[in-house]
Amino acid sequence: MIPETVAQVEPREQVILSAEQNTEEQYWRLQLAQSLRSTQELLRELQFSEQQVQQLSANDQGFSTLVPKAYVARMQPSNPRDPLLLQVLPQTAEAVSSSDFVADPLAEAEFNPTPGVVHKYHGRALLIAAGHCAINCRYCFRRHYPYHEQQRSRSQWQASLACLAVDANIEEIILSGGDPLALTNNMLFALIDEIEALPNVQRLRIHTRLPVVLPARITTTLCQRLQTSRLQIVMVLHCNHPQEIDAQVVQACLRMQQAGISLLNQSVLLQGINADTDSLCALSKKLFSAAVLPYYLHLPDQVAGTQHFFVSQQQGQALLRSMQSQLPGYLVPRLVKEEPGQPHKTLIPVV
Ligand SMILES: *Cc1c(COP(=O)(O)O)cnc(C)c1O
Ligand code: SF4
Repeated sequence: MIPETVAQVEPREQVILSAEQNTEEQYWRLQLAQSLRSTQELLRELQFSEQQVQQLSANDQGFSTLVPKAYVARMQPSNPRDPLLLQVLPQTAEAVSSSDFVADPLAEAEFNPTPGVVHKYHGRALLIAAGHCAINCRYCFRRHYPYHEQQRSRSQWQASLACLAVDANIEEIILSGGDPLALTNNMLFALIDEIEALPNVQRLRIHTRLPVVLPARITTTLCQRLQTSRLQIVMVLHCNHPQEIDAQVVQACLRMQQAGISLLNQSVLLQGINADTDSLCALSKKLFSAAVLPYYLHLPDQVAGTQHFFVSQQQGQALLRSMQSQLPGYLVPRLVKEEPGQPHKTLIPVV
């Protein structure tokens, strides 16, 4: 029987699975449904005093709070500087405005040929597969994104994919969002079926934070579906701090590795969270112990409301140099930034 909370989240879903798989699917969807949806709830879960709860939640406005309990479980109780808490806690600094920090710094609105496709990179097309995430990150460049105008439905995917089918240059489809793994398996698998039917596509890349914030999402059914695909599957995790990787995250990654999925990570450099050599080196090593290679380290986009997270290019370069002095080359990510109108990320030289 499907628990009521899950049924409410996905009323359309009719999953027909074996009993064991069914339980696994229900479990992650229940976890998703039981995520904390207010800053006060989050702070009470972390045992802050009632006075601190009131003080620290005073900035809760606009981009709503959303955090799975599996992620909260890795935060240090009662620590207002916890690097995981700071990624999800609204701060007074979000209200600071500056002409250098704008709602759509990458001018993505201009790169949108059909609803659902952001067709931006040579040989690759990025598809907005889901309108929602399993967590709301305060630094996110999509915090001002008009998701409500980008609500995905199967018919819209079909329109987007029909547009890609006639483009022989597209070898790789990148599923992004929102978070593609926030979709139910039924929705996700239907999308993968259609991508597999595009003859020129060789690779499917999934950009996701779910394996990190809700590792129970990596179910047997999901791994089996990806393992049997004719496409090469690349999963790009978005993990920012070593404290985000616990035993469950490692286990989820190793399951994916066993299913033949290539695992990469991209992080965002965030002031006060991971902009120090120790955190970054520990992150690279911990990722590798979970079979994940560090891929990109992003300078933060200059998104309105995220100024307090900003890291300058000079600081980023200095951090990369010190990582290079401490780690083997394969554990040093590439330092990059996004620039509006550029068909790829800009690689920042580290000399
Ligand atoms: C950078 C980025 C891409 C393109 O990545 P490449 O690895 O440079 O091809 C696609 N999707 C997201 C979400 C990205 O951040
Ligand atoms: S798109 Fe990524 S960074 Fe942004 S809120 Fe979703 S999970 Fe967080």
